[in-house]
Amino acid sequence: MKNTKAILEVPGKMVIKDAAMPEPKEDEVLIKVEYVGICGSDVHGFQYGPFIPPKDPAQEIGLGHECAGRVVKVGTQVKGFKVGDAVNIEPGVPCGHCRFCREGHYNICPDVDFMATQPNYRGALTNYLCHPASYTYKLPDNMSTMEGALVEPASVGIHAAMTANVRPGQKIVILGAGCIGLMTLQACRTLGAAQIVVVDVLANRLHMAKQLGAMEVINGKLENTIDRCHEILGAWGADVVFETAGAQVTARQAPDIVMRGGKIMIVGTIPGETPINFLKINREVTIQTVFRYANRYPVAIDAISSGAFDVKSMVTNIYDYQDVQKAFAESVDCKADIIKGVIKIG
Ligand SMILES: [Zn+2]
Ligand SMILES: [Zn+2]
Repeated sequence: MKNTKAILEVPGKMVIKDAAMPEPKEDEVLIKVEYVGICGSDVHGFQYGPFIPPKDPAQEIGLGHECAGRVVKVGTQVKGFKVGDAVNIEPGVPCGHCRFCREGHYNICPDVDFMATQPNYRGALTNYLCHPASYTYKLPDNMSTMEGALVEPASVGIHAAMTANVRPGQKIVILGAGCIGLMTLQACRTLGAAQIVVVDVLANRLHMAKQLGAMEVINGKLENTIDRCHEILGAWGADVVFETAGAQVTARQAPDIVMRGGKIMIVGTIPGETPINFLKINREVTIQTVFRYANRYPVAIDAISSGAFDVKSMVTNIYDYQDVQKAFAESVDCKADIIKGVIKIG
């Protein structure tokens, strides 16, 4: 068995290097990676370097955190896994004993070791990796490892919708129809939202949003987003507005779309400072943020396995591991055509 890993040599350039074969600790499993999803954060990292740059400039930077594969070895204390099991992993391993971990919010653990970011910048784009069995999940027989890799972004959408307490009958607006917007859409639909309006500026994403259950879509480049939302949903607006585009322009639209007593859920990573006119939302509107997910992998796996979630249709581009450079370059250059790209390893 030979191991390699894809490393960001400089922004804009990925190289595949030989890597040591990892040995599982007693509580870990060794996984042969089969699929890695390309996340918006990976594409950002490829273009500009990581959001949080490493303290040591010599730090090797891996990319990829949406990952599934097969167990090839189990640690001595591991129960419930065997060689050959199809699995996926939660890429964030929290400390397990801080206040946030103990209260179940392990996603906001200050010491979480998340893939492709600080402190270790280890990426999932590798042939073999070790992972704690407690953050590893067995996939049902009817799920492929490609779908397994997409459980990560599905969990983000499920966490956003469940944390926003989306309920049957509600009116929802989702700003942004990238991977996370489309997962949030499916989560809201599954939770029983009555009307879901999705906004984006790319036609093929809006087409996909319709296919995945959006009742109405708005092309923000061609139409007035705020006016159209009120035409569709009525003067009161939306119970919940999700910002998933990670942009100041969409964050600034949310107060004009949300209902009195409603909620603005910030899912995207919005750079810089966004001015908010609080006079527009002083009728008991809640602004809330979410960060990744906690305790949502089992829900996401069941949602995909049961057919409630369709993640397969979102995959528009499958790349070979050897073409990792092309995979990222196209993710930058052909953004309008790609809904979800994945890399097949091995
Ligand atoms: Zn992701
Ligand atoms: Zn912790």
